[in-house]
Amino acid sequence: MNDCLFCKIAAGEIPSNKVYEDEQVLAFRDINPQAPVHILVIPKEHAADSAAQITAENSAVVAHCFEVIAKIAAQEGLAEGFRVITNSGAVAGQTVPHLHFHILAGADMSDKLV
Ligand code: 5GP
Ligand code: ZN
Repeated sequence: MNDCLFCKIAAGEIPSNKVYEDEQVLAFRDINPQAPVHILVIPKEHAADSAAQITAENSAVVAHCFEVIAKIAAQEGLAEGFRVITNSGAVAGQTVPHLHFHILAGADMSDKLV
């Protein structure tokens, strides 16, 4: 995906504030944080545009993303709790069509949408 912003971040062509990296996954701080802690977790490969494209063939990296989310929660000291969001499609608020998971924490979200 030549023109994909998150592919460029994964390739290091666009800098990011990294919090975790391994062979499959990169996590970095959101440029426009919606909570005191706002981290994006992305598969480095453009496995899917969004959750709508998850299949038996590409779902292993989704499981790995959630293993990484648990590691980051421990690393960032999010013992009180955190929220994981993935927007799928423009109507849901997705602006970057490269599968990603938002980790949000540090604010009381108990009265929000879900
Ligand atoms: P979406 O709206 O697709 O669910 O999430 C995309 C997220 O990417 C937004 O929260 C937005 O602030 C973030 N974002 C967009 N461009 C950049 C960038 O260049 N660097 C970083 N770190 N985050 C970005
Ligand atoms: Zn991409």
